Parts: sequence; C-alpha cells; structure tokens
Amino acid sequence: MRKYYIKTFWCEMNKADSEKVNMILLQSGMMKTNDWKDADLVIYNTCSVRQKWEDRVFGMSEEIRRENAKRKELGETRYILTWITWCMVRKTGLNKMYLEEDTIRKKAKKIEYIKDSSWIFNNDDKLFPRLPPLDFTLRIEEVKYLPFILTHIYWEKIWSDDKFDDYLKSKQLRENPASASVIVQTGCDNYCTFCIVPYTRGREISRPHADIISEAKELVANGTKEISLVGQNVNSYGKQSNIKLWNEEKSTWNEWIWKSPFGQLLSELDTIEWLDRIRFTSSNPHDMTADILDSHFDLKSTCNYLHFALQSWDSIMLKKMNRRHNYELFRDMVHELRAKDPLFSISTDIIVGYSWETEEMFQNTVKAFKECEFDFAFIARYSVRQGTIASKAFPDDVPDEVKAERWHILNKILLENVTKRNTLMLWRIEEVMISGQKDDYFFWRTRNFKEVFFKDQTNSIKTWDIVSVKITELDRYVLRWELQY
Ligand code: SF4
Repeated sequence: MRKYYIKTFWCEMNKADSEKVNMILLQSGMMKTNDWKDADLVIYNTCSVRQKWEDRVFGMSEEIRRENAKRKELGETRYILTWITWCMVRKTGLNKMYLEEDTIRKKAKKIEYIKDSSWIFNNDDKLFPRLPPLDFTLRIEEVKYLPFILTHIYWEKIWSDDKFDDYLKSKQLRENPASASVIVQTGCDNYCTFCIVPYTRGREISRPHADIISEAKELVANGTKEISLVGQNVNSYGKQSNIKLWNEEKSTWNEWIWKSPFGQLLSELDTIEWLDRIRFTSSNPHDMTADILDSHFDLKSTCNYLHFALQSWDSIMLKKMNRRHNYELFRDMVHELRAKDPLFSISTDIIVGYSWETEEMFQNTVKAFKECEFDFAFIARYSVRQGTIASKAFPDDVPDEVKAERWHILNKILLENVTKRNTLMLWRIEEVMISGQKDDYFFWRTRNFKEVFFKDQTNSIKTWDIVSVKITELDRYVLRWELQY
C-alpha cells in the first residue's frame, strides 16, 4: 500500500483542505504516515503569508531531492513524489518528465484554471524551474484531478469518484472528530494590497446553505461538539443574496427585518441539538454586521471570541492596504462586545513596517493596540509577497531594523495586554473541551478561546471530554488549571 505524508502550513482553511486531501487519498487506497521518509508521496499544503514558510518548503524539498538521489545510488526503486498545493501554486500541472512533448512553457503567473483533465499536461507553474524535484502542482480547488494525476504518474488506476468533482462538496476526513472545521466560503474579493489570497484562491464563492447545515447535523450526530466555520471572509458569506427574515418580535409579516446571510446561517446552526460551540474565522471588519455581533450573545452556541483583523490604526495606511474599515468603527465594535461581556476575547492581525509607514502612523497603531487590549495578536513584519499589488506598486521602504523594533514594541504591549486580560480569568470555573495531549498535559480552549493546560493526576479524563476546571495560574500566553469535581 502506498503511503503519503502531508505538511500543512498556517491557517484553519489549509487544515480543512488537508482533511479533504486525506479523504480522497485514503479512499484511493493510500495510507497516511507521519514520517516523510516512509512516504511515497509528500504533500506541502503551503502558505505565502510569511516568507519563512515558503523557504521551509524549498528547504524540505531539497531534503527530498537528496534522499531520492541517495536511493538512486543504492539502486532502490522506491522514490518520493512531491506535490505542492495552495498559496504557492498558480496552475495545476506536471513536471516535464511526465509530459510526452517538450512543451513551451507559458509561465503562469496568475491563477489559471484547468478546463478538463487534458489541460493537466503542462508545466507552466513558476515553481517547476525553481524546484526541479517537484513532481506536480495542484490547485486545491482542482483537487478532483488528484486521482487522474496519480494514475498518470504511477501508470495504474487510482480510484476516483464523481463525489470529489466539486471542491466545496468533497468531504473532509477529520483529524479531530469532536472539534470540526466546516468550510463555508472560499476565495476573496477584497484585494488587500499586501495579500496573495485573491490570486491563489480566486473570487469569493459561498457554499450552499443547505449543504453546510446538513454537514453540521451529520457531524453532531457523530459526536462533534464544536464547529469552526472557516473561510477567507466568513462574514461576507452569501453576500450576493440579501435575505429578509420574519420579525418574531413584531409578529407580523408586514415588518421585515434584515439579517445577513452569515447571521442567518449561525442562527440555524444554533438550533442543532447537542452542538455545544460554534466559532468562525476569519471575519473582515468592513463586512461585520450588527446581527453577527449580536449572535455572540443571542445564540446559545456561538462562543465569546472573535478574530478581527485591524492591520493598522492609520486611515491613510488602511486605504493603502485597501482595507475598507476605519479605526473608530473597529474600536466601537470592540467596546460594544466587551461592554456586553468583559471576558469577550478578541484577537487581531497587525502588519508593521508596511510601505510608507511613518513613526507617527506606527505610534497611532501602538495607541490602538493599547486601547483595544487584544487577547492575542498575530504581528507580522511586512515582507513583499510576489504577485500582490504592493509588490508591483509600493516600495518596501521601511528598514528591517525599524520593522524589528516596531515588532518588539507591539509584542511587549501584547504580553502586558494578555496578562491583564488573563488575570480576569483567574479563579474562575470554566468549561474546557479536551482536544489533545502534549507530553503529560491535556489542553484545549475555554469558550472564550483561552488556551489552557493541565496534568490529570487521577487519570479520570479523556480527550474530547468537556470538563469543569478552575483557572489557577497564568503562564505567559496560556493558563493552567485544576479539575473541579
Ligand atoms: S480580506 Fe484581505 S487579507 Fe483577507 S484574504 Fe481577502 S485579500 Fe487577503
């Protein structure tokens, strides 16, 4: 039986996509391994948000090249194939050794879609000349062609099925059955100037409402307690349709209220019996609506946590980033959430050292950072991502040492904020769903997404149990706790 190894970089969406790949490969008769040297196929589900992750893909591919060369020298016939997908890929295609003719490379720079399987016979993706050991590229939305590609490479029929034909419909084989991610939307229409996603994922597509509800019901019937709705821009889910809903308070069909399609999706999911927790990521501030914010308080299962990307305080900078929110609106939403629930957790993304970021602009972001008291933040030093608008139009003009200094300043404030916010959790009794074990410690999250760790002296709990705990200790970004009986 052939084996595969999959390495997933960064986000929840990538993790959910890797679960789709798991389903297809296992149903195609392959077996998963955690050791890349034991694999026949190594898959990198890549991310271009940080340069270091792209560099790791190059480094790991080089290790595979060396391993294959060693096997060749020893006369072995089993080689490792490499497949790269997601952010780093623009076009599905094959290494030239699998092509019958020496094709003239077109060098796909933007996304190019494959119209049918015959279109796979190209090596246009720019990764091929940079990574000679790469066997094939496959855009994840075209994952239905995976059995066809493997059949062509191995020269033997790899099972396929038309249920994989639609990316959004193909199922995930979940690694974590109690806490499942469900893809609700893919692609992005926002074109933030620093971001590659609209060029790798394409335009926004929302998954049919009925498919999401039925998948969620099936998951819960099989024991899932927590569902994370994932997409690049979940709160613009279904934005093509404005759904009018029955106004229950006024109890008359003459009084319509407007509810966002994502808000409506949350309300329907909330009616699923035994579903304990709903989370969602990522949400864009300019697409946020009052009904989605209210759902955190009005619905029994929506957790008191929100990831909300600010990126910068400065309105000129936000315009340059093509972000359509402004800081005042963002801050008001943060304050509204915390006014209703002081323990409401909010995390954010910030870029320091973006093109033309002055000291004054940065100092304003510092003020915003202090004012919003984020519970967590992903702080990035700007680096040019090839293919983005910024890479073509803006200079990378903030020196590296200034970026580093700004990054350290924000991280220092972050730790102060986290300590202050986490102190509010001390001595509270919280419900935690156990998701995993690291060394001797069990871990997972409170409803407000605080990561907690503990050692079970009694051997009484198992993964996926929901247990009551008393928070007893702060440990930088995480909490430690003891079981309550
Ligand atoms: S909203 Fe902006 S940062 Fe987020 S995926 Fe879309 S383009 Fe990228």
